[in-house]
Amino acid sequence: MKAVVKLEKGASKIEYREWEKPVPGPGQVLLKVKAVGICGTDIHILHDRFPTTPPLILGHEFSGEVAAIGSGVSGWKIGDRVVAENITGACGSCDLCRTGHAHLCPQKKAYGSRSHGAMADWTVMPAHALHRIPDGVSHEEAAVVEPLAIATHAVLQRGNVRLDQKVVIIGPGPIGLLAILVAKSAGANVAMVGTSEDNARLAKARELGADLVLEAGPNISSLLNSWKPDRAIHCVVELSGSSSGIQHAIQWVGRGQCIAAVGLAGKEVLVPWDEAVVKGVDIRFCFSSSYQAWEQALALLASRQVSPASIITHRFPLPQWREAFDAVEKKEAIKCLLIP
Ligand SMILES: [Zn+2]
Ligand SMILES: [Zn+2]
Repeated sequence: MKAVVKLEKGASKIEYREWEKPVPGPGQVLLKVKAVGICGTDIHILHDRFPTTPPLILGHEFSGEVAAIGSGVSGWKIGDRVVAENITGACGSCDLCRTGHAHLCPQKKAYGSRSHGAMADWTVMPAHALHRIPDGVSHEEAAVVEPLAIATHAVLQRGNVRLDQKVVIIGPGPIGLLAILVAKSAGANVAMVGTSEDNARLAKARELGADLVLEAGPNISSLLNSWKPDRAIHCVVELSGSSSGIQHAIQWVGRGQCIAAVGLAGKEVLVPWDEAVVKGVDIRFCFSSSYQAWEQALALLASRQVSPASIITHRFPLPQWREAFDAVEKKEAIKCLLIP
């Protein structure tokens, strides 16, 4: 088969090349990859700014079709349309795995960074990672379930966002835009905050139904305060990982309310700690996404409460992976899919 492979450590070192077609072992299924999204993480891997274990097939946001079934697998048949949680290697027996938090299992070997991913014609996954794609949801939309599950995990589970609440999302990347859709589906009022570099994405935020869209600037705090001034901000979803985003999240959030912190900073960050303590802020860190978040993300797609199709702006055949990565890196694309 053909695959996009990081061959060794170092910047670039990625090639579209022939690779051995995987064979499903016990408890595994072979999947025909239908669509695979490019994530910011993949760009970091391209530049060797993210830990990987090469040689490695990239790609962790994908949809596929069951093509072969390993021994001991039940409940799946050839042709089933599926997505898969990013929990390759999770042990299945620790407290975290047994309580629906396999994404935090210390044994996990993240798919597409520490185990082979989906930028290939075929991939294998443990059967216990699979979720069925609902009828009426396309393979392209299903390829966005992984980032949608991260948004669902942050907004609904960790952020506990509910009807009529006031929610601020910092960072209009694909997960931030999906977070708008999830928060709106819960009936919340949503403000999106970006920077002057995010013009196209802020326009998309408006199109997706954000009630208030703001570019960070000197009077941003007063603009947010004058938005529905009779009530506090219930939840800030912090996706930027920037120092100013993290500091603003603590300044803006209401007393006793919640920050869902998703963005990685890549460095140590100075935090207004005392302000967070005195306000009794509930800072809830969000890593990856839980089993339940995947089920909720799929339910939102099935019910059409969330339609992510409009954030899929670019598609390339898999051999043109380099052009596709460029479109993502230059922020021309919001979500870019590769089609094997
Ligand atoms: Zn991703
Ligand atoms: Zn485990």
